Amino acid sequence: MTVWQDDVARDLVRNVGDRLALLTRGEGSHVWDGDDKRHLDFLAGIAVNSLGHAHPVFVEAIAKQAATLAHVSNYFATPPQLALAARLKRLAGAGIDGRVYFSNSGAEANEAAFKLARLHGIGRNGVAARPRILALENGFHGRTIGSLALTAKKAMREPFEPMPAGVEHIPATIEALEAAIDDRVAAIVVEPIQGEAGVVELPEGYLAAARSLTLKHGALLIVDEIQTGAGRTGAWFGFNHEGITPDAITLAKGIGGGFPIGALVTFGVASSLFTPGSHGSTFGGNPLGTAVANAVLAEIEDAGLVENAARRGAQLREVIERIESPLITGVRGRGLLIGIVLSSPIANAVVAAAQERGLIVNAANPETIRIAPALTIGDAEIAEFETLFTAALADVQASLAASETEKATAP
Ligand code: PLP
Repeated sequence: MTVWQDDVARDLVRNVGDRLALLTRGEGSHVWDGDDKRHLDFLAGIAVNSLGHAHPVFVEAIAKQAATLAHVSNYFATPPQLALAARLKRLAGAGIDGRVYFSNSGAEANEAAFKLARLHGIGRNGVAARPRILALENGFHGRTIGSLALTAKKAMREPFEPMPAGVEHIPATIEALEAAIDDRVAAIVVEPIQGEAGVVELPEGYLAAARSLTLKHGALLIVDEIQTGAGRTGAWFGFNHEGITPDAITLAKGIGGGFPIGALVTFGVASSLFTPGSHGSTFGGNPLGTAVANAVLAEIEDAGLVENAARRGAQLREVIERIESPLITGVRGRGLLIGIVLSSPIANAVVAAAQERGLIVNAANPETIRIAPALTIGDAEIAEFETLFTAALADVQASLAASETEKATAP
């Protein structure tokens, strides 16, 4: 063990497994580790570093705002906060009635969404007229208690039970939603593409069907755009691909480009549910975070990075599809959120081989590699990815063949 690994083992809470490397700096789509080895970063902090690392727009926005006004309490408004709220409303198509609540993370944005659903569920006499909240099997919405209740994976939830009551996980099919929804449902919470589940898209037409069913039954349609938002899928938001208008969306990750910030954007009548005192956060919406997110989103708009995500995503898919490896059996996803499906549960071995070659990707599940590079990538990064990933797959194939031979020749 090196010194930094000793420090990790001694000083950090053991809530994650072994760290892959000690990263010390980054520039564009590359990061360097403590041994000065260069890595191509095709994960971007799990769909966070929209502009890549150390982008001048990001750096300047932080420096300028830190030197102007970093934090005030929510007793005050600030220009960057108002500018970001107006930008998010415009980008999301939330219209004049839309409103924005700022949080510090994705889980916190979903906590706010959970409370929004509860407020919507309150009946006239204060008793929950709509106690049910629907979420999807395989969905992931965060690790705080409310967002965890929305998260499907039992292994994540069970140690922390009891969960807040009322959440039901249903299969991600239109038929299952039709069967489950009634007038006692306050909200349905869905991801347009289930990133943590292995980059699994909702069935075509799902969001449109969910929109009409929720309208019919008076439930809110809440779309978790934490991983899919900010241009990642080649549209500003995942829901844009189905042309619907939800009642609320949650955002985080890519909107801050590396600065921790989240948001709940409400549409129409859902915008009147929060009232003074019903929710809050000390840091949420402070001038530093909102100035950075505003600058990041402005750059995504000005540099045409949503279009770039669509174009480069298609290009990357072609590259992946032409890699001749028996280890790849399929490609999923949209824009620059891509899942590479493997022939067996070897994703961890592929991640390790890629890491060795100087490529950062991640195992969304044992059979799927997730890539979510910066929205700024171009031909050079894609060519480098092709070389490194092809080599990593060949390394894994060679080691699988070696262990087969070893097995066959064992006495
Ligand atoms: N929702 C989705 C769809 C996510 O992908 C994530 C994080 O991966 C979250 C919520 C939780 O966000 P955070 O880790 O910022 O709390």
